[in-house]
Order: sequence, then C-alpha cells, then structure tokens
Amino acid sequence: MSENKTAKSTLSKDDLIVIAGAGGFIAGALTRYFGEQGFTRIRAVDKKPLPEWYQRVPGVENLSLDLSYRDNCKRACEGAVEVYNLAADMGGMGFIERFRIECLRSILINTHMIEAAYRAGAERYFFSSSACAYNTELQKDPNVRALKESDAYPAMAERGYGWEKLMSEMFCQEYWAERGLKTAIARFHNVYGPHGTWDGGREKAPAALSRKVIEAKDSGQYEITIWGDGNQTRSFMYIDDCTQGIDMIMHCDDLIATPINLGSSELVSINELVSIIEEIARVRLERKHDLDAPRGVAGRNSDNTFIEQVLNWGPDTPLRDGMAKTYAWIEGQYADRKAGKPTPAGDH
Ligand code: NAD
Repeated sequence: MSENKTAKSTLSKDDLIVIAGAGGFIAGALTRYFGEQGFTRIRAVDKKPLPEWYQRVPGVENLSLDLSYRDNCKRACEGAVEVYNLAADMGGMGFIERFRIECLRSILINTHMIEAAYRAGAERYFFSSSACAYNTELQKDPNVRALKESDAYPAMAERGYGWEKLMSEMFCQEYWAERGLKTAIARFHNVYGPHGTWDGGREKAPAALSRKVIEAKDSGQYEITIWGDGNQTRSFMYIDDCTQGIDMIMHCDDLIATPINLGSSELVSINELVSIIEEIARVRLERKHDLDAPRGVAGRNSDNTFIEQVLNWGPDTPLRDGMAKTYAWIEGQYADRKAGKPTPAGDH
C-alpha cells in the first residue's frame, strides 16, 4: 500500500511506555515492536509470574502485577507517557463461551488502568477492543456482510466478553469527552502468529488447528476433529499487522476516542483454514466434525473501508504466509515440549 497518512508519534525514545498484558501474545509482541523501534523505557506488566510470560524483551522493566486492583494500576502507570491496555482474561471460543464471568471481570482492569493513566498524566491511552463487541444478530450467516464500525449499535454484543469490551470502549470515549485524555480504541479481529497460546484451552482456531495437525502427524493417526461443521467463516490478522496497526491508530489524531476495526478482510471458512494448514504441513487428514463443540457466530469479517480511508493502510499479510510462520513456530514448540523443555505459551 502507498504511504500512510497517520500522524507521526511525538513520543521521545526515552518517554515511558507502559504495556499491560505483556506476558501474553499481542502485548508481548507489542513490547518487542517498541523495543525494536529504539524506545529505551518500556514497562511491561502482567499478572502471570515472569517464567510464564510468552516473551521477555531485553532491557524492558517487567512487573508481575494483578491489574484488576487499583493500587497495582497506579504503580504500573507511574510516570507513563503512553499506556497500552491489552490485559484481559480471555481465550478462544471455548474459553469465552464457558467463562463469561471471568471475561466480564476484565472491566476492572480497564476501569482502574484508565483512571491510573489519567492521574499519572499520561498523554495517550490505548484499549484493545474486539470484533466480539459487534451485534451478534448481524453474524448469523457464513456469507456475512463485513462488519463496519457503526454495526456495534444497537448493541447485542457477545455475552460476557463482548459487553465488557463495549463498556470499556465507552470509558475510553468519556475520558476523552470529559477529561481530555487522548484514547485509542481498536477492535481486533482474530489475531494469530508465533508466541501465542497453542494449547491448554485458551488457544484460538489457527493455533488449535495447527497443533491438531502436528499431533496427527506425530501420532500417525491421520484424522482431525473440527469444531462445528467447519462452514463458519472468519478473517485472521497476522501479529505483525496488529502491532503496526496499534502504533498507527494510537498516534493518529483523527482517531481519538473512535473505535476502529483492526483486522484482515481475507475471509475463510474453518474448513478452508484446515486445508491451508494441511498444505503447509504436507498432509491430508480425515475430518471429523464435532457439532456440539463451541463454534461462535456463523460468520464474521472486518470491513476495512474506514481504516483504509483514515490511515491509507490495512492489515495485508496473506493468511497462507502468516500461517506458514505460525505453523513452523508451533511445530518447534511441540518438539521442545516433547524434549522436556519449557514452552510457556503452551503450558496453561
Ligand atoms: P493473552 O491471553 O495472550 O494476553 C492477555 C494477557 O493479559 C495475559 O498474559 C494475562 O495473564 C493478562 N492478564 C489477564 N488478567 C490480568 C490482570 N488482572 N492483571 C494483569 N494482567 C492480566 O491474549 P491476547 O490474544 O494477547 O489478547 C490481548 C488483548 O487483545 C485482550 O484485551 C484481548 O481481549 C484482545 N483481543 C485479542 C484477540 C485475539 O485474536 N487474540 C481478538 C480480539 C481482541
């Protein structure tokens, strides 16, 4: 794509950046991203003990704090110029359909973090929302119309997880309207890539299906169980597009307090995703469909008209390319685990 129109960050390389949820997948990648951009003062925070973090980036201050408590948020945000809140109790469909209370309780994290960021005098605050904030009534057909930003209202979000995201979005909008804190709100659509959860119950379809293919090859039992009939459709965004998008959205003054899609618009069915992975793995498996398993909405895609208009950019890593990297990484993790080595992203 041609040059983007985003405002350049006015952040100095020694301004303090706070990243919440940094022991997890996306915030871990974001920490690495800012480290590679030359920022010298990054504070990474997560409730998990340090050995369980998926990535630990050299030179970064790592804090293990539960951010559902106000005082911990205050500690986390001290001196911050920018705060990125990606901490949430979440997982794939298997997790968010089963543990709605845990998902709802993430509202404590954002509620305390945004107040702490405001009180610390932070200049900008980022919140990771989700496509699950969209009205589920619009997602009942696999041949979906892609979701545009205005489709969140009238609200009928995913129970639990989606409603928490909608409410936290509203906090971000009101902190801007009433208190002048510059907030950024990105609605992520299914993010995948290396260093994400690939086992244990919180993993999402790209990682779960990659693991199942690897297990089938390893065991010699050439079959795979797919949740639902596999006709449900989704789009999947590669992690590098996600970190770049977060940076661009956070630093665009036209997007303050304005929810925006951050997702790929390459729609595939879950059955097609399995075929892509089989091709990467050079294997063909017998497919079984578990019609009682969680399957989520029938179809969901990201309408990228708005992001392309404002930033002149959109996530564009082809699914086949991103999946090849993801599959290779999970294969390595699987081998490490078999050899008795620790693999935090697979050991929940
Ligand atoms: P993740 O589970 O890998 O990371 C989230 C991290 O937050 C975890 O490391 C967890 O320990 C931490 N956390 C949970 N509760 C906490 C607390 N009380 N205090 C401090 N840390 C806490 O998930 P992810 O995929 O990296 O997601 C990051 C953000 O993006 C989340 O807000 C999620 O809802 C959002 N999101 C992700 C996707 C996706 O496809 N991965 C899609 C839409 C939205």
